[in-house]
Amino acid sequence: MTIESLSVRDPQVPNFNPPHQVPLVAASSFIFDSIEEGMDIFDGKKKGHIYGRFGNPTIDAAANKIAELEGFGLKEKPGGLFCSSGMAAIATVFLGLCEPGETVLTQADLYGGTTSLLEQLHKRGIHTETCDLRDKRAIKAAIKRNDRIRMIYVETPSNPTLRVTDLKLLAKIAHKNKALLVADNTFATPFMQRPLAFGADVVVHSTTKFINGHGTGIAGAIVCRDAELMAEKLVPVYRLYGGSGNPWDAWLVLNGLKTLPLRMERHSANALAVAKYLRKHPKVTQVNYPGLKDHPDRKTIKEQMSLHGGMLSFELKGGTKKGMRFMNRIKFCTLTPTLGDVDTLVLHPATMSHRGVDPAVRAAHGISDGLIRLNVGIERVEDIIADLKQAIG
Ligand SMILES: *Cc1c(COP(=O)(O)O)cnc(C)c1O
Repeated sequence: MTIESLSVRDPQVPNFNPPHQVPLVAASSFIFDSIEEGMDIFDGKKKGHIYGRFGNPTIDAAANKIAELEGFGLKEKPGGLFCSSGMAAIATVFLGLCEPGETVLTQADLYGGTTSLLEQLHKRGIHTETCDLRDKRAIKAAIKRNDRIRMIYVETPSNPTLRVTDLKLLAKIAHKNKALLVADNTFATPFMQRPLAFGADVVVHSTTKFINGHGTGIAGAIVCRDAELMAEKLVPVYRLYGGSGNPWDAWLVLNGLKTLPLRMERHSANALAVAKYLRKHPKVTQVNYPGLKDHPDRKTIKEQMSLHGGMLSFELKGGTKKGMRFMNRIKFCTLTPTLGDVDTLVLHPATMSHRGVDPAVRAAHGISDGLIRLNVGIERVEDIIADLKQAIG
């Protein structure tokens, strides 16, 4: 062989004893021993990889691990797909599971990107209706009015008001009406709440948040209970619409997942301490945190969440002016529009994530101008509280 050709050839990795950690496989395609083997893998008769957009060992490991965690305690293991972002996961689910002419019943206080995506899908014939999904009568009335509701899509706890919805009840209503229940489990993570166990059909994640945990990448995941639904409806959209994830982000997710329980325990303990501190503060009028005993949805919280997480929101006296003053005085915490990282992050919905939303609509959903959202991190809680104290002033 010439030196030019030798330079071009890839030295194949020998199959010795396996590495202790899942390796980051950066390959866009996989080699077949023979044309027959290639045909069998294409037909699904033999397990194997084909092309990176359909999956690869690192991507599949992340998808399977998230599916295993969401399916923990269930008899049958659900299937998983690893996506390029939380939005890719959510878009794949809407495009795969809804036909033109059908309606998604959901809540008005969704993640902003999801609301905007549903507005986009309206142009493609997929319609949206919203109601308070904690209100059984409102849901039943919506279904009575519209017989094309084929999916109930829920986010619990909700953002940024931390309202909690009864998944078991939603699953029951959905299935009675031939609809699917899809839950965005980003805030809770499978360590704290597993929607499939309460009857949900599909779970979506922005792994960008607590699952990665360290703010180092954008990615998402879909977990589906029914293998046939996944193979027939979700996999084709996943493979063809370009939303599949990449091995580097999958590798970061696998790394982050190892400490998910430890992080969620610490996030939860710190958030409870911060919630209790804020509740006693004379300049704070309201604290929304699922771990507080007087939370309006406490019965559902007790039934479906094992811990209460790192997200909370609180209302400062004095509206936008005081909210902005607080944001500019923060020193230890970080002003940034994400969540789920190990450090404490603050966001002012009225001027940041929800600035495009009509103030009247904001107010109707409990997003007042003085509302501050906190991602309480895993630092020493004394440092977090000291910063909040000086910033509230
Ligand atoms: C961030 C987020 C998303 C979108 O995820 P990306 O990874 O940013 O695409 C969806 N749902 C919730 C609840 C989120 O917090």
